[in-house]
Amino acid sequence: MFPIDNYDFKGKRAIIRVDFNVPLNEKFEVTDDTRIRAAIPTIKKVLEKGGSVILMSHLGRPKKNNDDKYSLSHIVGAVEKRLGVKVMFAGDSMGEKAAEMAKNLKPGQVMMLENLRFYAEEEGKPRGLAEDATEEQKKEAKKAVKESQKNFVKKLASYADVYINDAFGTAHRAHASTALIADYFPHDKMFGYVMENELKAIDSVMEKPQRPFVAIIGGSKVSSKITIIEKLMERVDSLIIGGGMTYTFMAAQGGKIGGSINEPDQYQTALDILAKAKAKGIEIVMAEDALCADAFSEDANTQVCPSNDIPDGWEGLDIGPKAIESFKNHIIKCKTILWNGPVGVFEMDKFAGGTKAVAEAIVEATAKGAYSLIGGGDSVAAINKFGLADKVSYVSTGGGALLEYMEGKELPGVAAIRK
Ligand code: AMP
Repeated sequence: MFPIDNYDFKGKRAIIRVDFNVPLNEKFEVTDDTRIRAAIPTIKKVLEKGGSVILMSHLGRPKKNNDDKYSLSHIVGAVEKRLGVKVMFAGDSMGEKAAEMAKNLKPGQVMMLENLRFYAEEEGKPRGLAEDATEEQKKEAKKAVKESQKNFVKKLASYADVYINDAFGTAHRAHASTALIADYFPHDKMFGYVMENELKAIDSVMEKPQRPFVAIIGGSKVSSKITIIEKLMERVDSLIIGGGMTYTFMAAQGGKIGGSINEPDQYQTALDILAKAKAKGIEIVMAEDALCADAFSEDANTQVCPSNDIPDGWEGLDIGPKAIESFKNHIIKCKTILWNGPVGVFEMDKFAGGTKAVAEAIVEATAKGAYSLIGGGDSVAAINKFGLADKVSYVSTGGGALLEYMEGKELPGVAAIRK
């Protein structure tokens, strides 16, 4: 049971911060409604308990007000379709219409505000500063937007009796709608189901994992994953390192990596990780071989090479067949699995085989009772691409938020509810 299960919503207006930052095509149609589907249980809970709902979200990164490209009006239909209830669109988040609509909201009704980021106050960052603005001007502009942010938050809060944060993807931001607004609802604030389930899933992996616990860390760069790798080394029994990162590790140890992606300024970091793992008794599994290409292209010629002996003019774009076998064998023996980052350039079918094999091994381990958490934008995209998302224990909706929470940082959106 979560607090939302026990709250009496009867006759109350709930303002829910959802994450409707969904992809749209050129006709402004929603191409992936995962985030909309995720928010439905929270919205339905409020409605079933006799309350009404005011939905608020951001969409993309608009730089000015009323930029139609980023209007949430484009997604009203997709929300109605999943919810089965009419959604009234307020047109603006600050205007009279929004206030009127909120005031007249009846139990069972749902309304949606316009993209919060149409206003600089949502993020509290100044806009439209001249490129040559002085430090002093920047400071002044920041002060001004922080000041007007107070009214923005107050106005949003005035629409409702209760605040629910269900946007895990933005929980690492101290924005008006994700954190600041909570102060107006000291006794009537709570997480929605997306947030509750995310926090539960991450806590269950980080706090009491069943062993053996493996983390599979892929993606392109060591530099963007170093903090999480260090944090995970306090918890895991083994680490599988894949993707472009492999070649920084190989080069750091004197290997030949051809034209593979590589960060020379991270060689020492890579060596430190290996030394630390050894000292702690953590097994590090890296790809013995690589599927190499003579161009970063779907039409490239390919050959399999040892990951530490790639000829000039070739680059490793996926793990090779030996690595696939060893990654698979390792994963299926584990009881807790965390996966962040693809092990190859999975966006191109030719180099998706390794990532697919990892996903399939995770599915197999899950079927045998392991707990598997998939997190971080690209591994989520990968598991969706292979149609395996419903065969793992949990797919996180938050990229940056997930990593920061795992790194042990306090997320403003979480702290605002808990404090
Ligand atoms: P990240 O955001 O750091 O998790 O990186 C994800 C990206 O890493 C994906 O877009 C992959 O295409 C890319 N990636 C994975 N393996 C490689 C590789 N061997 N070479 C270049 N890019 C890679």
